Amino acid sequence: MSPESLPTGFTPASGEESPGLYLHIPFCKSRCAYCSFNSYACQSPPAAYLTALASQIRHWADQQWCRERTFATLFIGGGTPTIYGGNELAELVGLCLASFNFTEDAEITVEANPNTVTMPMLTSLRRTGVNRLSLGVQAFSDRLLGALGRSHTKGEACAAIKAARKGGFTNINLDLMYGLPGQRATDWRESLDQALAFGPEHLACYELTIEEETPFARLVEKGALTLPGEEEVLAMAALTHDLLAQAGLPRYEISNYAASGNQCRHNLNYWRNGSYLGLGAGAVSCLSGFRFSTVEEPEAFAALVQKGELPLSEGECLSLAARFRESVVMGLRMIEGISLARLQRRFGLTPAGYYGKMLEELQEQGLIVLASDSLRLTEAGLPVANQVLSRLV
Ligand code: SF4
Repeated sequence: MSPESLPTGFTPASGEESPGLYLHIPFCKSRCAYCSFNSYACQSPPAAYLTALASQIRHWADQQWCRERTFATLFIGGGTPTIYGGNELAELVGLCLASFNFTEDAEITVEANPNTVTMPMLTSLRRTGVNRLSLGVQAFSDRLLGALGRSHTKGEACAAIKAARKGGFTNINLDLMYGLPGQRATDWRESLDQALAFGPEHLACYELTIEEETPFARLVEKGALTLPGEEEVLAMAALTHDLLAQAGLPRYEISNYAASGNQCRHNLNYWRNGSYLGLGAGAVSCLSGFRFSTVEEPEAFAALVQKGELPLSEGECLSLAARFRESVVMGLRMIEGISLARLQRRFGLTPAGYYGKMLEELQEQGLIVLASDSLRLTEAGLPVANQVLSRLV
């Protein structure tokens, strides 16, 4: 794919909102048994990768599409970004802030694993402008963390959350997982209670899914991994919604819960099918409907950048209809659903006009509601969201 094929046009009438910027750090201390992300185990991450990433930041900040826009969010995710030192990460954040236009109140998130954060790192990140920390806690139980192959302990998770507060973070997300091998609803309740005791502003609660070619998938194939039954998992999900709503963290997306005003703006932009620039190995971008991805392997990424080439793998220009369908499917993940006015503004299409009979059927089945200003999943539709969304793709 050539750089000439990238979009340069800007159509304010399309109703586009501020884009997000994502940087991918594809390294972790070790690989978790369920992981299917683009991550590689290593104890000491290569400096060459950061050099290549910095070069890509400078390259893209200079492109017309980026220069004409003001970014609303920066998200450094992984992998484990905090496998690098605080100074290196702070430099990366500083380079982004100096190179791209950002809104004054931009949300700047760094993902971290509990056993890789230190007090000096947190202080340094906070000082550079990082205002949101997302910690991959997953469970407050050493037994369950061990079963997942996580490299941290419950004690390290608690210490990291306390350090983040002490370091000045007032917007903290904790990632938690349920439906784990050997986990009962009572264990899940304990994890939620423990998380809530820290007063997080945001919780992401994911059900474990077994992805192909992971150690967990191989164990399931051999019949050597016992997961909780469907009813128990449904009970865990129901407990999550109730407990977190009572605690002032209502659900705003299928797996996400936040205190008022603390919804993750970076992810909201994905769910609203906004534009985003993703830099780093395996990162995906979508600029005004032009989607492209970066080569996955970090060494290949760094080598291409060093040769002065764009490290891109594939790209496609999405049709208006494809972007409309994606906006519907992604938007239905949000509890508030999709704004019909936004769809109309961006695509000149309505769900009723586009999907016709199929939408009527889903309404008759009580799975979605078409209100005067929004389309959303019902209480009955949310637990079977994947099936509903697959009909609208
Ligand atoms: S920490 Fe996250 S990205 Fe790294 S191996 Fe575990 S699940 Fe994968």
